[in-house]
Amino acid sequence: MITRIEERLEEYKAEIDEAMILEIQQAAQKILSGELVGFPTETVYGLGANALDADAVMKIYAAKGRPSDNPLIIHVCDIEMAESVVELNWRARFLMDIFWPGPLSLVLKARETVPKVTRGGLETAAVRMPDNAIALELVRMAGVPIAAPSANRSGRPSPTDALTVKEDIGDAVSIVIDGGPTKVGLESTVLDVSGEFPVLLRPGGISKEEIEKALHIEVLLPFDGEAIKRSPGTRYRHYAPKIPLVLTDGSCSSLVDGKKWAWIGISEPEHSPHVKIIFRDVEEYAKELFRVLRVIEKSGAEIIVAQIPDETGIGRALKDRLVRASGI
Ligand code: AMP
Ligand code: MG
Repeated sequence: MITRIEERLEEYKAEIDEAMILEIQQAAQKILSGELVGFPTETVYGLGANALDADAVMKIYAAKGRPSDNPLIIHVCDIEMAESVVELNWRARFLMDIFWPGPLSLVLKARETVPKVTRGGLETAAVRMPDNAIALELVRMAGVPIAAPSANRSGRPSPTDALTVKEDIGDAVSIVIDGGPTKVGLESTVLDVSGEFPVLLRPGGISKEEIEKALHIEVLLPFDGEAIKRSPGTRYRHYAPKIPLVLTDGSCSSLVDGKKWAWIGISEPEHSPHVKIIFRDVEEYAKELFRVLRVIEKSGAEIIVAQIPDETGIGRALKDRLVRASGI
Protein backbone atom coordinates (compact mmCIF):
# COMPACT_ATOMS: atom_id res chain seq x y z
CA MET A 1 0.00 0.00 0.00
CA ILE A 2 1.32 3.48 -0.88
CA THR A 3 1.07 5.71 2.18
CA ARG A 4 0.06 9.38 2.18
CA ILE A 5 3.67 10.27 2.95
CA GLU A 6 5.09 8.30 -0.01
CA GLU A 7 2.48 9.82 -2.27
CA ARG A 8 3.42 13.35 -1.20
CA LEU A 9 7.14 12.64 -1.63
CA GLU A 10 6.50 11.66 -5.27
CA GLU A 11 4.62 14.92 -5.84
CA TYR A 12 7.41 16.96 -4.25
CA LYS A 13 9.99 15.76 -6.78
CA ALA A 14 8.11 17.59 -9.52
CA GLU A 15 8.12 20.84 -7.52
CA ILE A 16 11.90 21.35 -7.34
CA ASP A 17 14.04 22.30 -10.37
CA GLU A 18 17.80 21.86 -10.86
CA ALA A 19 18.74 25.36 -9.67
CA MET A 20 16.74 24.87 -6.50
CA ILE A 21 18.42 21.52 -5.85
CA LEU A 22 21.82 23.26 -5.94
CA GLU A 23 20.63 25.93 -3.53
CA ILE A 24 19.25 23.32 -1.15
CA GLN A 25 22.56 21.42 -1.35
CA GLN A 26 24.46 24.55 -0.32
CA ALA A 27 22.02 25.17 2.51
CA ALA A 28 22.39 21.56 3.71
CA GLN A 29 26.17 22.07 3.79
CA LYS A 30 25.71 25.18 5.94
CA ILE A 31 23.52 23.21 8.34
CA LEU A 32 26.20 20.52 8.63
CA SER A 33 28.89 23.10 9.32
CA GLY A 34 26.90 24.53 12.22
CA GLU A 35 25.43 27.59 10.49
CA LEU A 36 21.87 28.91 10.27
CA VAL A 37 19.65 28.77 7.19
CA GLY A 38 16.33 30.44 6.39
CA PHE A 39 13.90 28.16 4.57
CA PRO A 40 10.21 27.92 3.69
CA THR A 41 7.73 25.50 5.22
CA GLU A 42 3.99 25.31 4.56
CA THR A 43 3.26 27.28 7.76
CA VAL A 44 5.80 30.15 7.97
CA TYR A 45 9.53 30.55 7.15
CA GLY A 46 11.87 28.76 9.53
CA LEU A 47 15.33 29.60 10.90
CA GLY A 48 17.07 26.24 10.92
CA ALA A 49 20.10 24.67 12.56
CA ASN A 50 21.29 21.09 13.12
CA ALA A 51 19.04 20.02 16.02
CA LEU A 52 21.77 17.73 17.38
CA ASP A 53 24.47 20.44 17.48
CA ALA A 54 24.08 22.46 20.68
CA ASP A 55 26.40 25.27 19.51
CA ALA A 56 24.48 25.69 16.25
CA VAL A 57 21.14 25.71 18.07
CA MET A 58 22.44 28.38 20.45
CA LYS A 59 22.94 30.64 17.42
CA ILE A 60 19.19 30.45 16.73
CA TYR A 61 18.36 31.83 20.19
CA ALA A 62 20.92 34.60 19.73
CA ALA A 63 19.74 35.57 16.23
CA LYS A 64 16.10 35.77 17.29
CA GLY A 65 16.65 37.22 20.74
CA ARG A 66 14.61 34.24 21.91
CA PRO A 67 14.46 33.28 25.61
CA SER A 68 16.49 30.10 26.07
CA ASP A 69 13.71 28.24 27.90
CA ASN A 70 11.44 28.37 24.82
CA PRO A 71 11.99 25.01 23.10
CA LEU A 72 12.31 24.57 19.33
CA ILE A 73 10.38 22.32 16.99
CA ILE A 74 12.51 19.63 15.36
CA HIS A 75 11.83 19.16 11.64
CA VAL A 76 12.26 15.67 10.19
CA CYS A 77 11.89 14.20 6.71
CA ASP A 78 10.39 10.85 7.71
CA ILE A 79 9.09 8.84 10.64
CA GLU A 80 12.40 7.00 11.06
CA MET A 81 14.16 10.31 11.70
CA ALA A 82 11.42 11.28 14.16
CA GLU A 83 12.10 8.05 15.99
CA SER A 84 15.77 8.95 16.30
CA VAL A 85 14.93 12.05 18.37
CA VAL A 86 11.81 11.06 20.36
CA GLU A 87 10.18 7.89 21.71
CA LEU A 88 7.13 7.17 19.59
CA ASN A 89 3.93 5.65 20.94
CA TRP A 90 0.94 4.20 19.08
CA ARG A 91 -1.03 7.46 19.21
CA ALA A 92 1.83 9.47 17.75
CA ARG A 93 2.28 6.92 14.93
CA PHE A 94 -1.43 7.03 14.20
CA LEU A 95 -1.45 10.85 13.99
CA MET A 96 1.70 10.88 11.85
CA ASP A 97 0.03 8.49 9.42
CA ILE A 98 -2.94 10.79 9.05
CA PHE A 99 -1.51 14.29 9.30
CA TRP A 100 2.13 14.09 8.18
CA PRO A 101 3.54 15.73 6.24
CA GLY A 102 1.61 18.67 7.69
CA PRO A 103 1.34 21.43 10.33
CA LEU A 104 1.13 19.15 13.38
CA SER A 105 4.01 19.16 15.89
CA LEU A 106 3.94 16.26 18.33
CA VAL A 107 5.46 16.56 21.80
CA LEU A 108 6.98 13.27 22.96
CA LYS A 109 9.64 12.01 25.34
CA ALA A 110 13.00 13.16 23.96
CA ARG A 111 15.96 10.86 23.40
CA GLU A 112 19.26 11.72 25.05
CA THR A 113 20.80 12.52 21.64
CA VAL A 114 18.77 15.76 21.57
CA PRO A 115 20.77 18.47 23.35
CA LYS A 116 18.99 20.17 26.25
CA VAL A 117 19.25 23.54 24.52
CA THR A 118 17.11 22.30 21.60
CA ARG A 119 14.31 21.32 23.98
CA GLY A 120 14.58 24.32 26.29
CA GLY A 121 15.70 22.06 29.13
CA LEU A 122 12.54 19.88 29.00
CA GLU A 123 12.39 16.07 29.02
CA THR A 124 10.22 16.18 25.89
CA ALA A 125 10.75 17.47 22.35
CA ALA A 126 8.37 18.57 19.59
CA VAL A 127 8.76 16.95 16.14
CA ARG A 128 7.08 17.55 12.84
CA MET A 129 7.38 16.70 9.15
CA PRO A 130 6.64 19.84 7.11
CA ASP A 131 4.43 19.67 4.03
CA ASN A 132 6.87 21.56 1.82
CA ALA A 133 9.16 20.13 -0.85
CA ILE A 134 12.09 22.47 -0.11
CA ALA A 135 11.96 21.94 3.65
CA LEU A 136 11.85 18.15 3.31
CA GLU A 137 14.63 18.04 0.74
CA LEU A 138 16.76 20.26 2.98
CA VAL A 139 16.37 17.89 5.93
CA ARG A 140 16.92 14.85 3.71
CA MET A 141 20.11 16.26 2.15
CA ALA A 142 21.48 17.41 5.49
CA GLY A 143 20.73 13.96 6.89
CA VAL A 144 20.14 15.44 10.35
CA PRO A 145 16.96 16.72 12.01
CA ILE A 146 16.67 20.51 11.79
CA ALA A 147 15.53 22.59 14.76
CA ALA A 148 13.65 25.63 13.48
CA PRO A 149 11.49 28.31 15.02
CA SER A 150 9.91 31.00 12.86
CA ALA A 151 12.57 33.16 11.15
CA ASN A 152 11.68 36.49 12.76
CA ARG A 153 13.02 38.53 15.66
CA SER A 154 11.37 37.22 18.81
CA GLY A 155 7.98 38.84 19.42
CA ARG A 156 7.47 40.06 15.84
CA PRO A 157 4.90 38.58 13.41
CA SER A 158 6.20 35.38 11.78
CA PRO A 159 7.55 35.77 8.22
CA THR A 160 5.52 34.29 5.38
CA ASP A 161 7.94 35.20 2.59
CA ALA A 162 11.72 35.20 2.04
CA LEU A 163 12.08 38.99 1.83
CA THR A 164 10.63 39.45 5.31
CA VAL A 165 13.15 36.92 6.68
CA LYS A 166 15.98 38.94 5.15
CA GLU A 167 14.59 42.18 6.59
CA ASP A 168 14.15 40.72 10.07
CA ILE A 169 17.22 38.53 10.63
CA GLY A 170 19.14 38.74 7.34
CA ASP A 171 22.45 39.42 9.08
CA ALA A 172 22.31 36.11 10.97
CA VAL A 173 21.85 33.86 7.94
CA SER A 174 24.00 33.41 4.86
CA ILE A 175 21.21 31.68 2.89
CA VAL A 176 17.48 32.26 2.80
CA ILE A 177 15.88 29.83 0.35
CA ASP A 178 13.00 31.53 -1.46
CA GLY A 179 10.04 29.19 -1.87
CA GLY A 180 7.44 31.93 -2.45
CA PRO A 181 4.68 32.85 -0.01
CA THR A 182 3.70 30.16 2.50
CA LYS A 183 0.50 28.14 2.11
CA VAL A 184 -0.93 28.10 5.65
CA GLY A 185 0.44 31.38 7.04
CA LEU A 186 0.08 30.43 10.75
CA GLU A 187 2.38 28.15 12.70
CA SER A 188 1.82 24.45 13.36
CA THR A 189 -0.47 22.99 15.97
CA VAL A 190 1.51 21.78 19.00
CA LEU A 191 -0.05 18.64 20.52
CA ASP A 192 1.37 16.90 23.56
CA VAL A 193 0.95 13.14 23.09
CA SER A 194 3.50 12.11 25.70
CA GLY A 195 0.87 11.39 28.35
CA GLU A 196 -2.39 9.49 28.74
CA PHE A 197 -4.53 12.16 27.05
CA PRO A 198 -3.63 14.42 24.11
CA VAL A 199 -3.29 18.08 25.11
CA LEU A 200 -3.42 21.01 22.69
CA LEU A 201 -0.53 23.29 23.68
CA ARG A 202 -0.86 25.65 20.74
CA PRO A 203 -3.65 25.82 18.15
CA GLY A 204 -2.36 25.91 14.57
CA GLY A 205 -2.66 24.64 11.02
CA ILE A 206 -4.43 21.37 11.97
CA SER A 207 -7.61 22.03 13.95
CA LYS A 208 -8.64 20.52 17.28
CA GLU A 209 -11.75 19.14 15.57
CA GLU A 210 -9.71 17.34 12.88
CA ILE A 211 -7.54 15.69 15.54
CA GLU A 212 -10.56 14.66 17.62
CA LYS A 213 -12.26 13.17 14.57
CA ALA A 214 -9.17 11.09 13.86
CA LEU A 215 -8.62 9.94 17.45
CA HIS A 216 -12.27 9.56 18.51
CA ILE A 217 -11.44 11.20 21.82
CA GLU A 218 -11.50 14.72 23.14
CA VAL A 219 -8.34 16.79 22.88
CA LEU A 220 -7.78 18.58 26.18
CA LEU A 221 -7.00 22.25 26.50
CA PRO A 222 -4.43 23.09 29.17
CA PHE A 223 -5.82 25.25 31.92
CA ASP A 224 -4.28 28.65 32.64
CA GLY A 225 -0.80 28.35 34.03
CA GLU A 226 -0.44 24.74 32.93
CA ALA A 227 0.05 25.76 29.29
CA ILE A 228 2.93 27.97 30.34
CA LYS A 229 4.52 25.22 32.39
CA ARG A 230 4.21 22.63 29.63
CA SER A 231 4.91 24.87 26.65
CA PRO A 232 7.07 27.78 27.72
CA GLY A 233 6.64 29.57 24.38
CA THR A 234 3.03 30.38 25.22
CA ARG A 235 4.24 32.71 27.98
CA TYR A 236 5.78 35.29 25.71
CA ARG A 237 4.10 38.12 23.86
CA HIS A 238 4.15 37.15 20.24
CA TYR A 239 3.30 38.25 16.77
CA ALA A 240 3.17 41.89 17.75
CA PRO A 241 2.97 44.63 15.14
CA LYS A 242 4.68 47.94 15.94
CA ILE A 243 1.35 49.73 16.40
CA PRO A 244 -1.41 48.71 18.84
CA LEU A 245 -3.93 46.08 17.78
CA VAL A 246 -7.38 45.85 19.34
CA LEU A 247 -10.02 43.18 18.87
CA THR A 248 -13.70 43.63 18.25
CA ASP A 249 -16.73 41.50 17.58
CA GLY A 250 -18.87 44.48 16.73
CA SER A 251 -18.62 48.22 16.81
CA CYS A 252 -15.19 49.80 16.58
CA SER A 253 -15.82 53.55 16.87
CA SER A 254 -15.08 53.67 20.60
CA LEU A 255 -11.74 51.92 20.09
CA VAL A 256 -10.07 54.24 17.61
CA ASP A 257 -10.47 57.56 19.37
CA GLY A 258 -9.88 59.87 16.41
CA LYS A 259 -6.73 58.01 15.29
CA LYS A 260 -5.91 56.87 11.76
CA TRP A 261 -7.03 53.27 11.92
CA ALA A 262 -6.83 50.09 9.87
CA TRP A 263 -9.52 47.42 9.71
CA ILE A 264 -8.89 43.72 9.13
CA GLY A 265 -11.67 41.15 9.09
CA ILE A 266 -14.12 39.20 7.00
CA SER A 267 -17.00 41.67 7.15
CA GLU A 268 -17.28 45.39 6.45
CA PRO A 269 -16.55 47.75 9.38
CA GLU A 270 -19.30 50.10 10.56
CA HIS A 271 -17.23 53.20 9.86
CA SER A 272 -14.68 54.21 7.27
CA PRO A 273 -11.11 53.31 8.20
CA HIS A 274 -7.85 54.73 6.84
CA VAL A 275 -6.89 51.25 5.57
CA LYS A 276 -9.36 48.42 5.04
CA ILE A 277 -8.52 44.78 4.39
CA ILE A 278 -11.42 42.36 4.00
CA PHE A 279 -10.64 38.66 3.62
CA ARG A 280 -12.73 36.19 1.65
CA ASP A 281 -13.02 33.77 4.54
CA VAL A 282 -11.35 32.72 7.77
CA GLU A 283 -8.75 30.61 5.90
CA GLU A 284 -7.59 33.64 3.94
CA TYR A 285 -7.64 35.76 7.11
CA ALA A 286 -5.31 33.20 8.75
CA LYS A 287 -3.04 32.84 5.73
CA GLU A 288 -2.60 36.59 5.23
CA LEU A 289 -2.61 37.84 8.84
CA PHE A 290 1.13 38.13 9.46
CA ARG A 291 1.88 39.63 6.04
CA VAL A 292 -0.93 42.15 6.41
CA LEU A 293 0.20 43.22 9.91
CA ARG A 294 3.58 44.19 8.48
CA VAL A 295 1.99 45.99 5.50
CA ILE A 296 -0.31 48.02 7.76
CA GLU A 297 2.59 49.02 10.02
CA LYS A 298 4.12 50.79 7.03
CA SER A 299 0.84 52.42 5.91
CA GLY A 300 0.75 55.28 8.40
CA ALA A 301 -2.14 53.78 10.37
CA GLU A 302 -1.86 54.35 14.12
CA ILE A 303 -4.00 51.47 15.35
CA ILE A 304 -5.30 48.17 13.95
CA VAL A 305 -8.85 47.02 14.68
CA ALA A 306 -9.21 43.28 14.04
CA GLN A 307 -12.44 41.35 13.83
CA ILE A 308 -12.52 38.31 16.13
CA PRO A 309 -13.10 35.08 14.15
CA ASP A 310 -15.30 32.17 15.27
CA GLU A 311 -13.29 29.74 17.34
CA THR A 312 -13.75 26.71 15.08
CA GLY A 313 -11.32 25.14 12.61
CA ILE A 314 -8.39 27.43 11.77
CA GLY A 315 -10.38 30.21 13.54
CA ARG A 316 -9.08 28.96 16.91
CA ALA A 317 -5.44 29.43 15.85
CA LEU A 318 -6.22 32.76 14.20
CA LYS A 319 -7.93 34.06 17.34
CA ASP A 320 -5.00 32.88 19.46
CA ARG A 321 -2.53 34.87 17.30
CA LEU A 322 -4.77 37.95 17.29
CA VAL A 323 -5.13 37.88 21.06
CA ARG A 324 -1.37 37.63 21.48
CA ALA A 325 -0.76 40.38 18.92
CA SER A 326 -3.08 42.58 20.97
CA GLY A 327 -1.00 41.88 24.06
CA ILE A 328 -4.08 41.02 26.17
P1 AMP B 1 7.99 28.55 17.42
O1 AMP B 1 9.30 27.91 17.24
O2 AMP B 1 8.06 30.03 17.62
O3 AMP B 1 6.99 28.11 16.40
O4 AMP B 1 7.45 27.99 18.80
C1 AMP B 1 7.46 26.61 19.08
C2 AMP B 1 6.37 26.31 20.06
O5 AMP B 1 6.40 24.93 20.34
C3 AMP B 1 6.49 27.09 21.34
O6 AMP B 1 5.23 27.51 21.79
C4 AMP B 1 7.09 26.04 22.26
O7 AMP B 1 6.79 26.28 23.62
C5 AMP B 1 6.44 24.75 21.75
N1 AMP B 1 7.26 23.57 22.05
C6 AMP B 1 8.38 23.16 21.45
N2 AMP B 1 8.89 22.07 22.07
C7 AMP B 1 8.07 21.78 23.08
C8 AMP B 1 8.06 20.80 24.11
N3 AMP B 1 9.01 19.87 24.22
N4 AMP B 1 7.05 20.83 25.00
C9 AMP B 1 6.09 21.76 24.92
N5 AMP B 1 6.04 22.72 23.98
C10 AMP B 1 7.02 22.74 23.08
MG1 MG C 1 7.64 31.89 16.42
